[in-house]
Amino acid sequence: MARYNGSVCRLCRREGMKLFLKGERCFTDKCSIERRNYPPGVHGQARPKFSDYGNQLREKQKVRRIYSVLERQFRRVVSDAERMKGVSGENLLALLERRLDNAIYRLGFATSRNEARQLVRHGHFEVNGRKVTIPSFRLRVGEVISLSPRGKKTARIEAAIETADAGAVPAWLSLDKNAKTGQVVDQPQREQITIPIQEQLIVELYSR
Ligand code: SF4
Repeated sequence: MARYNGSVCRLCRREGMKLFLKGERCFTDKCSIERRNYPPGVHGQARPKFSDYGNQLREKQKVRRIYSVLERQFRRVVSDAERMKGVSGENLLALLERRLDNAIYRLGFATSRNEARQLVRHGHFEVNGRKVTIPSFRLRVGEVISLSPRGKKTARIEAAIETADAGAVPAWLSLDKNAKTGQVVDQPQREQITIPIQEQLIVELYSR
């Protein structure tokens, strides 16, 4: 399965904002955005001027990078969002939020989406009692995320749950810290996604 193996901090610098791809480091002064908040490369400090297409492209790349989704898969999610009732941009974000790796990160079982993705791949989680190793698995209302026997033995998940802040969990999820489980209780709502994203630009990009 293809994946991006380069520096993730470089991606944040390209988008000019923190995408929170590195867990705890993102909250320290070692964060590259704190130290060098300009795009990477020789011309990074030149003032960029974007066309409409450029703005749409940057917005799409930002969202793709936040959720660690490759282009082909992202395109599929966009077309699923367009087929759904309601506003396509909001549907797109809701579908991305419902990914299993994102929900695990949002519940505080992992410090970043990339870590959550790796833990899912390695079989540390179950959905409704069945092991799921597909990070893009789309959760539905009522489904319960729990640790697999392997996940229960993993110290870093224990440590993450220990420090997880139940108040930071979005309202569409519920966290039971004692049982070490999370449940999808509602559909994700647009206002629960606090990262500044202009999702309508992404829809415009794909309808060109
Ligand atoms: Fe982005 Fe985190 Fe790297 Fe900062 S530390 S640049 S937020 S990935």
